[in-house]
Amino acid sequence: MYNSKAYSAAAATSPLAATTIARRDPTEHDVQIEILFCGICHSDLHQVRNEWSGVMPTVYPCVPGHEIVGRVTKVGSAVTKFKAGDLASVGCLVDSDRTCPECKAGLEQFCANPTFTYNLPDKHLGGVTYGGYSDSIVVDQHFVLRVPSNLNLAGAAPLLCAGITTYSPMRHWGVTKGKKVGVVGLGGLGHMGVKIAHALGAHVVVFTTSPGKQEDARRLGADEVVLSRNANEMAKHTGSFDFILDAVSASHDIGAYIQLLRRDGNITMVGAPEKPLAVSVFSLIMARRSLSGSPIGGIAETQEMLDFCGKHNITADVEVIPIQKVNEAYERLLKQDVKYRFSIDMASLKTE
Ligand code: NAP
Ligand code: ZN
Repeated sequence: MYNSKAYSAAAATSPLAATTIARRDPTEHDVQIEILFCGICHSDLHQVRNEWSGVMPTVYPCVPGHEIVGRVTKVGSAVTKFKAGDLASVGCLVDSDRTCPECKAGLEQFCANPTFTYNLPDKHLGGVTYGGYSDSIVVDQHFVLRVPSNLNLAGAAPLLCAGITTYSPMRHWGVTKGKKVGVVGLGGLGHMGVKIAHALGAHVVVFTTSPGKQEDARRLGADEVVLSRNANEMAKHTGSFDFILDAVSASHDIGAYIQLLRRDGNITMVGAPEKPLAVSVFSLIMARRSLSGSPIGGIAETQEMLDFCGKHNITADVEVIPIQKVNEAYERLLKQDVKYRFSIDMASLKTE
């Protein structure tokens, strides 16, 4: 074991603060990574504040962070994928049971016994796993991803959650050239959804509650922008969408979007609001529309997404911050005041 610097929350109502955590020494299949950047996902905020207490209660102290990019410092004797000095990245999964049908199919995100990067039992050290708001992490090579060398590292970090969470359902639901695709909520996930849908060739419509984001939405790749609080603008799109990705973090009216789907259209929830949302089943029945959810993505698909982003030169639009600004960043996230992802420069931990 060795010590790593980190930021943790001691309770749902405590700010994040500097701490020291234990990391395991790399075993034969492990990769040790010096973390260079870690994105701030709204899930970090939900988890730190125990907003998902019904499904995923938070264990304190909690070290969040699952959008990790860094450099390999050491590898175990059986590691073939990486060597010291390579760039490497880690998303929301650091292990799974690897024997169940989901794992065998490369769909580790559906494993019944996954180990998330933080807040789940740590098989090696006991306690729970600690995430990427830290200067170092040790992960089995199977769960470590390669980073295309042309991508800016601060902007690449958010691909590990925001990127794969939007890429995976779009691939699953057949987003391709000529499809009309909606993206609801232009936050961290939403802005990645726009870039990816645009690169897949779709006609992209952004739905936002923030009038100030309209210009950005077009710059990011949207063909049209709708202010979702304007009922007339919404009504113009009734019955026209093949697919809608809903990336909103708070309670909102999803019925307004279900109406916009054509026959057999699908709306997928990736946003994970704290409270249940109401659905009119008639709006689903009458046009055989479907409503689904989707969690992150498997390891192979995450690598596919990273390679796709490398090919299309896609990264997140980031505001790079020192870790000392993380609590302020959480407050700004709640005010929709981020364009469009915070990425923590982990060099700032050295001064703690
Ligand atoms: P974010 O950056 O805070 O973006 C959320 C966006 O939702 C905001 O920018 C805003 O967009 C919109 N919004 C916020 N409050 C709203 C309200 N009251 N009514 C309507 N729209 C509202 O968050 P994020 O990091 O993208 O995460 C979004 C959600 O996805 C979170 O719930 C997160 O936990 C979840 N998530 C799920 C997965 C998964 O695997 N399924 C993975 C990662 C994250 P506008 O300003 O454009 O309206
Ligand atoms: Zn996330």
